[in-house]
Amino acid sequence: MLFRSRTMDTAAGEDIINGNRLADGSSDAQKRRIAYYYDPEIGNYNYGKHHCWKPHRVRIVHNLLVAYDICKEMDMFKPTMIDYKDIMRFHSDDYVNFLRVINPDNAASMVKQQIQFNVGDDSPVFDGLFDYICSYCSGSIGGACRLNEGLSDIVINWSGGLHHAKKSEASGFCYVNDIVLAILELLKKYTRVLYIDIDIHHGDGVEEAFYTTNRVMTVSFHKFGDFFPGTGDISDVGYGEGKGYSLNFPLRAGIDDAAFVSIFKPVIAKVMERYQPEAIVLQCGADSLSGDRLGCFNLSLKGHAECVNFVRAFNKPTLVLGGGGYTVRNVSRCWTYETAVILGKEVKNELPFTDYLEYFGPDYSLQITPSNMENMNTKNYLDEHLHMLLDQLQSLEAVPGLQIESAFHPKTPDRVKLEQPEEGNPDEHEEVTKKEAEGEFA
Ligand code: MN
Repeated sequence: MLFRSRTMDTAAGEDIINGNRLADGSSDAQKRRIAYYYDPEIGNYNYGKHHCWKPHRVRIVHNLLVAYDICKEMDMFKPTMIDYKDIMRFHSDDYVNFLRVINPDNAASMVKQQIQFNVGDDSPVFDGLFDYICSYCSGSIGGACRLNEGLSDIVINWSGGLHHAKKSEASGFCYVNDIVLAILELLKKYTRVLYIDIDIHHGDGVEEAFYTTNRVMTVSFHKFGDFFPGTGDISDVGYGEGKGYSLNFPLRAGIDDAAFVSIFKPVIAKVMERYQPEAIVLQCGADSLSGDRLGCFNLSLKGHAECVNFVRAFNKPTLVLGGGGYTVRNVSRCWTYETAVILGKEVKNELPFTDYLEYFGPDYSLQITPSNMENMNTKNYLDEHLHMLLDQLQSLEAVPGLQIESAFHPKTPDRVKLEQPEEGNPDEHEEVTKKEAEGEFA
């Protein structure tokens, strides 16, 4: 008996060491099976020397994870490459065919299409563009398949999370929307999928794709007001069958950990209660961190990761993706730390040696210190918007069930259904445009 009891004690101790418990010391003892997708080629793609989107940051994260010696805690995969047909499940054929052929040598002869598809400025043409697209999409779609098959509880793809891409248009450094493709894959198995976005920018491409269905709830927290992409007001709630199933928390500059967590947790807790998603996709854009080159929030890694940990605690099949993040050293820190949090592993604040150690001077530490910038989100402002979202959630029919199966039948290719909001009488479109134009010039 004594032997048996000691064995159990040892097992309990190992549970903690092996990440069966949450890093925050909570009593959540369930073991998670974590998968991590990484393409060793990803860091070689280059948007251009002066472009702020750096695929290289994902390689730095990977090197830090290896150096911290926590990779053995998860199943690591090099993704199986998808092909263009997989991308056409959401994106239009003409846009995908354009992405397949455009390159720096023929770009000058395809100016008209570049304008049509919004490729060339923010989202530039570079060597290996289509291979890059396939690379970051493969981890997200492969990860979704793995969750569908029940082989993992959480799948991580830091190269994914390109939430701005539209059906027939690049936007904000995003060409193909790996998130939409991954969610379409999850919808083959799960009735309700929750999308959460903590990037500083509105998750507009994902919201738009699922704006008219209640099978996907999108929840985005973002800077709003004179900020890219300009959408995502609190009044944008979805349409038709999807009315109420898009949630937007518009924020002002300077939000800190305490304020962000104070709205994130009650919103997500209420989402879980009312919507009861069967799977979750979490976009962890790191441009919401303090000191981001494009962002204006004031989060530390701790605040950002607390959101990840909060989502993790609900124990749903979860796909964790990257996204924006333009101060490379902090993005690398953030996703490294969040990998550890997902694994339930403590990691030292002193960064281990990697080829990239020089990025992290002068302190060479993992954690970052927020700045003293003013938080423009007053308590009243946050409370007011929090309660609007809680009211929106409360007024939803609790847990959409069978009736949505008919609107989005599993045997029907998802693509057909998704295209519906885009279709309709072209004359109506023209009329609206004409009216708008008249208003403009009146
Ligand atoms: Mn967001």
